[in-house]
Amino acid sequence: MSEQFDLIVVGSGAAGLSVALGTGGSLRIAVVSRGVSGLDGSTCWAQGGLAAAIGPGDSPGQHAADTINAGSRLNNKSAVRWLAESAPDIVRWLISLGMQFDSINGHLALGREAAHSFPRILHAGGDATGAELVRVLRETAARQPWIESYEFSDACEILKRGPQVVGVVVRNRRGELTRLLAPNVVLATGGIGQLYRYTSNPVEADGSGLALAHQAGAELAELEFVQFHPTAMAPTADNAVPQLPLVTEALRGAGAVLVNDLGVRFMLAASPQAELAPRDIVARAVWEQMANGRRVFLDTRSLADSVRQRFPNLVEACAQRGLDPRAHLVPVVPAAHYHMGGVKVDLHSMSRVPGLYAVGEVACTGVHGANRLASNSLLEALAFGKALGERLGKSGPAEPISRVDNAVGHAIRSESTNDQMVLGRLRQIMWSEVGIVRTPEGLQSALHQIQVLERRCLAGAPALRQLLVGRLVVEACLRRRESLGAHHIDVVAPHYGRSGQAVA
Ligand SMILES: Cc1cc2nc3c(=O)[nH]c(=O)nc-3n(C[C@H](O)[C@H](O)[C@H](O)COP(=O)(O)OP(=O)(O)OC[C@H]3O[C@@H](n4cnc5c(N)ncnc54)[C@H](O)[C@@H]3O)c2cc1C
Repeated sequence: MSEQFDLIVVGSGAAGLSVALGTGGSLRIAVVSRGVSGLDGSTCWAQGGLAAAIGPGDSPGQHAADTINAGSRLNNKSAVRWLAESAPDIVRWLISLGMQFDSINGHLALGREAAHSFPRILHAGGDATGAELVRVLRETAARQPWIESYEFSDACEILKRGPQVVGVVVRNRRGELTRLLAPNVVLATGGIGQLYRYTSNPVEADGSGLALAHQAGAELAELEFVQFHPTAMAPTADNAVPQLPLVTEALRGAGAVLVNDLGVRFMLAASPQAELAPRDIVARAVWEQMANGRRVFLDTRSLADSVRQRFPNLVEACAQRGLDPRAHLVPVVPAAHYHMGGVKVDLHSMSRVPGLYAVGEVACTGVHGANRLASNSLLEALAFGKALGERLGKSGPAEPISRVDNAVGHAIRSESTNDQMVLGRLRQIMWSEVGIVRTPEGLQSALHQIQVLERRCLAGAPALRQLLVGRLVVEACLRRRESLGAHHIDVVAPHYGRSGQAVA
């Protein structure tokens, strides 16, 4: 079965819905998502907020400078400047759609986060910023008759005619395949956290957009840069959830400390700033404890009753595990959190494949460089998404697509228990060899293990997409031989004999 549209958007988070709404109604649009539109990606889980330089004394120039410092100066400076300058307009746009940001005495409340030199983080409902953002975008999209939602649908192949993208194949819950045809396809499929054993990301964030883009001939860039959050709540044996709740860094700001199962407060030795060291340093210290066989806990007991008022999400997540953070240690692990790399796009979100665009976490605009400044990712998804929608909206309705080159659905299989097992293995490999601390030997071993798994999968098996993305991440890690930003590689220094020759 085929359906014709003017534009297809794969993904219904901040990025995808901003593209759709940005077009302004001149196009007939299909928005494809794996679950309920808007509720199925990372966006609705975002807590911290949205960065915008709108406070007294602050400026887009300062915001850009902080972003470039956090990104180890690998950032695309033009993209960063454009993003920082767009932020105030994005805030006005969201307010015009009905978003209720937190305010004090009628003024927008601005929080300050680590590595931002001014208070510039907007929140909604305290730490429910993503949920409020999604509410507004979903409700607005649902009122537009020109947006058609394909929910519980997996985009599993990009259709091409010659070099031009002309649509996608989607599989619905019943396994039926439909061709959605249009001259422009936007990938807004989010991150890759689910490729790791421990992640804060929801199940949809498995990198499938990267696999689709690669197979269609797009360039992927900077895949080695994966940001890890230092503290997610560790799973219990009977609670093997794929998405772990974040244990917010604000708890450490409020006085909670990290200890291992011997009761040692190990951050004192890891950094002069102890628990308040930058995210990467804390994540690495926790990882090293775990690599040495220790378990790690956040000791929140000194916060006593204040934890109930200030951190209700933590109290609730603990209660589900039979813990009380006033009396018990909270078990934590670091978790894959955000992917800076992605489909390489220009400032207009265009990939090198005609008709194929990427926005949000799946894209690599170069905004984040080697590491993301907190609260810039929602902004990026919204700003690049809305701008792309506005540009595509000007192109007007498309001619119907009459021919595609793909032999549609020839080798697309449904997920089997083998796919589940392969994915479980991949997550373990990515965690232990391609995680917070990498070594050349570990990366080579990961590459080999992933290649073996690829050979064991049947053609068209869904797990092949995740294996492909995992392998591309490993290959990118192997190409970057020095540590930079979120990519930390321990190269064991060779031992030199008397002759000055390296000794094995
Ligand atoms: C717990 C948590 C807290 C965070 N807090 C913040 C914060 O405070 N501030 C901030 O700036 N950022 C934060 N982030 C990051 C931010 O939420 C994400 O980077 C951002 O929401 C990504 O938006 P997106 O639209 O690109 O993708 P998502 O919101 O992840 O949406 C992806 C969409 O693609 C769909 N999809 C994926 N693959 C397919 C496929 N094959 N076929 C069909 N559909 C598909 C999914 O179903 C979904 O609809 C947080 C992330 C997490 C996980």
